[in-house]
Amino acid sequence: MPKYLAGKYSHSQIAEVLIDAPAIEARVADLGAAISRDYAGTIPLLVGVLRGCIVLMADLLRQITIPVNLDFIAISSYGPTTRSSGVVRIQKDLETSIEGRHVLLIEDIVDTGLTLGYTLRMLRSRKPASLAVGTLLDKPARRLVDIDLKYRCFEIPDKFVVGYGLDFDQLYRNLPFICVLRPELYS
Ligand code: 5GP
Repeated sequence: MPKYLAGKYSHSQIAEVLIDAPAIEARVADLGAAISRDYAGTIPLLVGVLRGCIVLMADLLRQITIPVNLDFIAISSYGPTTRSSGVVRIQKDLETSIEGRHVLLIEDIVDTGLTLGYTLRMLRSRKPASLAVGTLLDKPARRLVDIDLKYRCFEIPDKFVVGYGLDFDQLYRNLPFICVLRPELYS
């Protein structure tokens, strides 16, 4: 575990590191290679789902060796707690027309799949040439909506995780690994 955690972040807040930084780096390199191979000859549009995707997106982009375009969308899902609010709405729409484009949605985590299911339906109505999903984490135990994940880096157990872009109450996104916090912090 890095020694630099300080101030509001202390090592005592972390219950368990599930995926360390070298393991993430290796899987993101695999993902970049797969995208470069599968989309060769096209210019895919990578769509990041804000804000959890940003660390993955920054690392992934630099592992892709073909030309790509980039855009972002923000969809509300969870509030400041770890429970699903059931409220799904677009907070920031794409700036790019996706009609006829090969679109690859980049997610931090797929949990129930409700947010992603909604986002995919909305994007599909805009008639992309193809629409696929790549996610860093997959939590299949809680899935409510059947979703085809073209790429996923890690399957994880039913635990609320933070780090590498994922937050709890807008904190912990800057941790370079995926971890579980001590239960008392979540309550
Ligand atoms: P879903 O609609 O699949 O249930 O939830 C998707 C969103 O919920 C994710 O994009 C993420 O913002 C949030 N989420 C689900 N599980 C976790 C988790 O374990 N940790 C964090 N930080 N966010 C999660």
